[in-house]
Amino acid sequence: MLKLKNVSKFYYSKGIVATGFTKVSLNFELGEFIAITGESGSGKSTLLNVISGLDSYEEGEMYVNGSETSHYTEKDYESYRKKYIGNIFQNFNLVNSYTVYQNIELVLLLNGARKKDVKKKIIEIIKQVDLEKYKDRKVSKLSGGQKQRVAIARALAQDTPFILADEPTGNLDKESSKSVLELLHKISKDKLVIVVTHNYDQIKEYVTRKITMHDGKVLEDKKIKDFNSVTLNKDNEIKDIKWYNKIRLGFRNAFNIPIKFLLIFVVYSFIVFAMFFAMSSFKEAEYLTSLEGYNQFFQNTSNKRIVIKKLDNKAFTEEDYINIKKINNVKGIIKDDLSLDSYVSLSSDSYYFYGGILSLNLIDGIDEGRMPENDKEIVIEVSENDYYIENNKEDVLNSEYSIENLYDYINNKAYKVKIVGIKYIKKQSLNNYGYSNFYVNDAIVKKISDNVNKEYSEIKYTFAGMEYISYPYSIYNEILPSKKVPAGKVVISEDLSYNCKNFKCKDYSFNINLENLYYKTSLNLKVSKMYTKKTFANLTGYKYDNYNGAIFINESQYLSLFSKGFFQSSVMIEDEKLASQTITELKEYGLSTLYMPDALFNYSQEFLRILKIIKVVSLAVLIVTLFFISYFIIKIVLKSRNVYFSTLRILGASAKGTRALLNIELLVISHLSYILFICFMIVSLDFALNIEYIKNLAEYITPYDYSILYAILLLMSILITNRYSRKLFKNTVKNTYREEV
Ligand code: ADP
Ligand code: MG
Repeated sequence: MLKLKNVSKFYYSKGIVATGFTKVSLNFELGEFIAITGESGSGKSTLLNVISGLDSYEEGEMYVNGSETSHYTEKDYESYRKKYIGNIFQNFNLVNSYTVYQNIELVLLLNGARKKDVKKKIIEIIKQVDLEKYKDRKVSKLSGGQKQRVAIARALAQDTPFILADEPTGNLDKESSKSVLELLHKISKDKLVIVVTHNYDQIKEYVTRKITMHDGKVLEDKKIKDFNSVTLNKDNEIKDIKWYNKIRLGFRNAFNIPIKFLLIFVVYSFIVFAMFFAMSSFKEAEYLTSLEGYNQFFQNTSNKRIVIKKLDNKAFTEEDYINIKKINNVKGIIKDDLSLDSYVSLSSDSYYFYGGILSLNLIDGIDEGRMPENDKEIVIEVSENDYYIENNKEDVLNSEYSIENLYDYINNKAYKVKIVGIKYIKKQSLNNYGYSNFYVNDAIVKKISDNVNKEYSEIKYTFAGMEYISYPYSIYNEILPSKKVPAGKVVISEDLSYNCKNFKCKDYSFNINLENLYYKTSLNLKVSKMYTKKTFANLTGYKYDNYNGAIFINESQYLSLFSKGFFQSSVMIEDEKLASQTITELKEYGLSTLYMPDALFNYSQEFLRILKIIKVVSLAVLIVTLFFISYFIIKIVLKSRNVYFSTLRILGASAKGTRALLNIELLVISHLSYILFICFMIVSLDFALNIEYIKNLAEYITPYDYSILYAILLLMSILITNRYSRKLFKNTVKNTYREEV
């Protein structure tokens, strides 16, 4: 049945060769009950391990049921063990965290049994070894004798033809030893039982044969009594563990040692949270960088702003605006978009704010104060850390401000407003620091954009054969509206009369040409009067001090110069992530578009690209680092489990199956960590906690990112398992066991 021919086993370690045993030739038959004795170090255990397929041999040949084994791979050994070998060890090799029942069940499940099919059999076997009372007790809480009886029960359940016991009573008292040996004898009827012992007397009443070893050799091989030879009646079919039992065991293993579970759980949770923080901080940095940069033409470079113009360069009609408003993701239109790009200063006796103008229609809520109720009330959008706001919020809200740009020089009056509401800028880019936005009534928008229009237009006039350029705000030749001047006429200073014949300019033609980005227009006027210092106020309605060289035309003609409709407007969008889609739709409508972030000239596009590279690289470094840290910790945690995995292999489990168990175990825990993470996010975002910091970071994480996090965690779990089990299984069972335990 089992035959060894000149078999030798050597141990190699660190260049030193030690002999386990040499040139052993033995023959074993089913039905025999054999005792192997010999002094310590004589090679008994080594021999038993080789027979068990737990260790390889170097010389000779071992035949099992007639076939050679010297070419066996680890896989062949796996099925050999499963099919033939039941081992019993001095130190029991049970799964301490499992109950008696579970230990026995384990070997049956590993052999492909179904849980419910083996229940009866297990109970029966437990009865046979007299442990009914302890069925559900954890093995760690049993006495030595009881443990060994569990080991025997397990071998019984395996129902293999060979039972190999290495000093099974070595750790037991006399009483227990006796009952264990009796039990072994009782189950040995149709099996080959080999018991290694150095206490032959204890066992001699049962044995059929006694082999004595000395110094790695068989010293004596003596028949004690006859035995009933049996033939191997059934060929033990080898089946692998069922997939659902793998899952079941994996789950059981995930939780059966609470402290181990907790440690691994903490490691995985650490991985998810670290990844989350890294990922979201990077995305935040990316976003903030995208806000950096400038455009010398546009002041408001919000990534919600798309500047639009008609392809035919005509002014927008009301119908255009209605249609554009209907486009998806369009939140509002700023018809007069030049106002967006003008700086406005707001000052009171104690405070000064500076920034851009936005229409109140676009506001989506305020953080302090209230919404404006009339023309003179505005909302300021400012950083929460603004010095004034931080220190004097109440006072800021109660002060009166003048808008510097709207100073009414005619009446020498400031345009006064009150800040009634504050909105906080959540994410302010660094180069916009200290810059505010003012949400104002449309009347103010209109006033400001009139000013802007004037600034953006080039105004020339020809008079008496000369061409002049009129500069806004220049006191010498600025063109100003006056209610006192009739249409078609112009009133000029007498200082200009040197151009005219006899210093009389009346009825000279006076042509004004205006040109800007969008249109050209002109007025053909005639000089009606010339003012002197004395007649100035009467003829123009202004105070002389301020406008001693200005040119006055009819007020409505003046306004018509600038009110040619809107040629350029801005669309403000709801969600910047959908910007490209909105742009496509705007283009389809026949508009040319300029999306603000695309119009930023600066380092930041370049920097963004670099930032993306940095992001990928450092996330990769982080993942690798996390992997090794977690691997290191999990390896230490799992070290205590090497016994378990070696035991599984001793019981005939394949490396692949064992790896699957570990995979499931770790995947269960990593899923729990992920669930914890998700729960934490939900709680900190929505419910009880409402943590601002997390909330802010979470804004950058999309569902796609969450799934990436999930995938990385699972991948790490699988990689850790693979790496760990590769180490665990690279050796024969005994080597692994020796190394790791
Ligand atoms: P026994 O079980 O009879 O006490 P062993 O089979 O354990 O003896 O050991 C037989 C011989 O092999 C001894 O000389 C021992 O030193 C050697 N040996 C056993 N295991 C190893 C090992 N892992 N590495 C090196 N030598 C070993
Ligand atoms: Mg030994």
